[in-house]
Amino acid sequence: MSSSTAQPGSSESEQKVAVVTGASSGIGAATARQLAAQGYHVVLGARRTELIDALANEIGGTGRQLDVTDETSVNAFVAGLEKVHVVVNNAGGAKGLDPVATADLDDWRWMWETNVLGTLRITKALIPALIASGDGLIVTITSIAALEAYDNGSGYTSAKHAQAVMHRTLRFELLGKPVRLTEIAPGMVETDFSLVRFEGDKERADAVYEGLTPLSADDVAEVIGFVASRPPHVDLDQIVIKPRDQASARRNVKTG
Ligand code: NAP
Repeated sequence: MSSSTAQPGSSESEQKVAVVTGASSGIGAATARQLAAQGYHVVLGARRTELIDALANEIGGTGRQLDVTDETSVNAFVAGLEKVHVVVNNAGGAKGLDPVATADLDDWRWMWETNVLGTLRITKALIPALIASGDGLIVTITSIAALEAYDNGSGYTSAKHAQAVMHRTLRFELLGKPVRLTEIAPGMVETDFSLVRFEGDKERADAVYEGLTPLSADDVAEVIGFVASRPPHVDLDQIVIKPRDQASARRNVKTG
């Protein structure tokens, strides 16, 4: 664990605290940098501790090992976080691109455990600290896969739909509490996402982004920074961000 200040969220620390899951790469790492630049003390969570510790040192945050699929790990991650102003539920991803007829149950389990139950575990654990802050914000990174169904993608689209519905339900359940909720649904963002989806097949992953200009992780992080900087009474409920070159999950300038 890397830490540069007092226990984040404790009474000694006046700095606002932001928790970012999946902060070791892609959108999560860019968001951690963005929120730190806006003055937050960022608590970074992911399984690859060497990456989050390096980033935590760079931005003056705190790196803590986190596996969102493991209850014990989540409990250790949130221990001592008394006041949290922002939680970014970002840890997630896809595995495979198979039709239902040949679906790999282990891939489905990974996607549901990480995107759906992972978001549930972190959110549940941090609701008291978000309310205690007096001005909390939950940002959940879903996807346009939470808005559309597409062939061969049902493991991921079903998980993202479920994650999104949980987040939208919480918007109702927390009405009257000092917590805002924002769902961010990105289209194509060039990160390690496709490398993870295709089990490290770099050629296949690179081909996804060839011939068009995808979003960068920073494009998404800047929008999250904007959301976090709104006053307490302004709730940006849902934001869909796509590259100009992409009109839907399956239609882009390459596919027509
Ligand atoms: P990425 O570069 O692969 O980042 C995924 C992050 O999730 C990594 O930091 C990874 O860290 C973390 N993670 C995975 N499993 C985890 C676990 N069990 N516990 C804790 N952390 C875990 O991909 P990305 O594009 O930035 O993805 C971020 C989010 O955006 C995901 O929810 C993804 O579904 C969503 N999204 C991505 C795109 C896209 O086109 N890239 C589009 C729409 C939505 P460790 O491996 O170190 O644990």
